[in-house]
Amino acid sequence: MSYAPASPQDRFVLVTEVGTRDGFQSEKEFIPTEVKAALINALIDAGVTSFEATSFVSPRAVPQLADAAKVMELVHRKPGVRLTGLVPNARGAERAAAAKVDMMACFVSASETHCQANLNKSIDAALLDYAEFAPIAKQYNITLRGAVATAFGCPFEGEVSIDNVLKIVGAYMAGGARHISLGDTTGMATPPVVTRTVEAIRKQFPEAMIALHFHNTRGIGLANVMNGLELGIREYESSFGGLGGCPFAPGATGNICTEDLVYLLHECGYETGINLDQLAAVARRVQEVMHRDLPGQYMKSGARLKLSSLESVRRAVG
Ligand code: ZN
Repeated sequence: MSYAPASPQDRFVLVTEVGTRDGFQSEKEFIPTEVKAALINALIDAGVTSFEATSFVSPRAVPQLADAAKVMELVHRKPGVRLTGLVPNARGAERAAAAKVDMMACFVSASETHCQANLNKSIDAALLDYAEFAPIAKQYNITLRGAVATAFGCPFEGEVSIDNVLKIVGAYMAGGARHISLGDTTGMATPPVVTRTVEAIRKQFPEAMIALHFHNTRGIGLANVMNGLELGIREYESSFGGLGGCPFAPGATGNICTEDLVYLLHECGYETGINLDQLAAVARRVQEVMHRDLPGQYMKSGARLKLSSLESVRRAVG
């Protein structure tokens, strides 16, 4: 089947954990800085090598992530582990560089309305900010990443114009970014929408390295991953326990769940370098931190071939 890796070289899938940014961002109660860093450290121990760790947006706009620099400081840095910080403008870029991020991610919505609601500025203004901070990343030798939010649909505008997506990707590439992340901020992606978007980008920007960021709002997040694998996409963004949402988009629910994603990838013959048991243990810890059940399924059910004893299940009577 075409979703399986075609060759051993094609087998590695990079999983980028966004839980401490996308997941925590909309939590009202402040999560202690030490806890955030400890979760990232536990994930590094579990083999996770890529993180959207935090955000260097204004601390006033997102108080939950006001501790970005401190989180970066408390993470046990390791060669081969990439820590990305979200950066909105030149001031954020300077803070991110001082905190020694490996990658700076710019974030622009493909929908004008969502862009206004989320960033309080137009798409063009957000791209101007990017053009201003991209040279700062270069100056510090930090890799750039361009994230396109609401790339597959907008809760305010409906279908998002592919021209908007291409315009944003073009601006990112022109500023020096090769890593492009397509965000399904409110779970409006479907396999056909993703296919046509990815194909349009590849046609115009063949050198773009595309990652996909799905939310599970309508229950088909992992189906979208299967389709992405068929398209040859080898990087996915996900959140521990399936935590997440978007305060600026009505009805937005959790990201696809990292453990469930890794379970799927491993069962399909892909390699992630991640220890699934350790990963699930971290997700259970996130549940404790949040004092609530999270949508992730693997952490509750365990491995596929984990056998139960017959005595442990209630027998039907009569
Ligand atoms: Zn997201």
